Amino acid sequence: MPVVKIKDRRQWTVDCRPLTQEKVTKILEILEKLHAVPTPKLNFETPFQLLIACILSAQCTDTLVNRITQNLFKKYPNPQDFLQLTQEALEKEIRSCNYYRTKARHILATCQILVEKFQGKVPQDRETLMQLPGVGRKCANVVLAFSMGAETIPVDTHVFRVANRLGLAKGRDPLETEEDLMKNLPKEKWVMAHPWLIDHGRRICKAQKPKCEICDLKAYCDYYAKTLKTG
Ligand code: SF4
Repeated sequence: MPVVKIKDRRQWTVDCRPLTQEKVTKILEILEKLHAVPTPKLNFETPFQLLIACILSAQCTDTLVNRITQNLFKKYPNPQDFLQLTQEALEKEIRSCNYYRTKARHILATCQILVEKFQGKVPQDRETLMQLPGVGRKCANVVLAFSMGAETIPVDTHVFRVANRLGLAKGRDPLETEEDLMKNLPKEKWVMAHPWLIDHGRRICKAQKPKCEICDLKAYCDYYAKTLKTG
């Protein structure tokens, strides 16, 4: 998963028109239709495995992470197993990944904390998760949302951009965007809104050149309306 890098939000956000329930419903219907089969995601069987996959995924594609974890999780399914590895041995296992030295250090330190403080289990609250080495807010939200059924909307660079362009949020940063989305979207759609917005950002609503002319959402998009007005 890409790391959130927000250089200039002015290029993505617009003065939104009032967000109506009808507009929210329509956008979600279209997103669901367009992105029913999302692009590859992180493979995991337990919250611990998703946590490790998330740490590995910084600056790295989900496809590559899945390739690494396919064997890694077979050999080392839980934190106790990882702690049998030296830093060098873990580096060797994950070396095809960017920043593998730092990630190996974070993973071993995280496993140590899980074993010493949480009986080898992954904590179920965001603040505690974010204190683990290598775990940021997005990673914590992904773990909570997808492995524990928590009701959150993890905001990465794609979710931030697409949600603000559409007018589903007016956030100046990922935290504000997350809060706006949780306020504006129905609870039962929170978990799936995340992969839908990511897919839309990857395939159509690209950062530099959004493909508005072929986008099914343009009738509901604030950014597109503004482009028409100013273009
Ligand atoms: S109309 Fe353009 S800016 Fe709006 S969601 Fe579609 S691609 Fe993105």
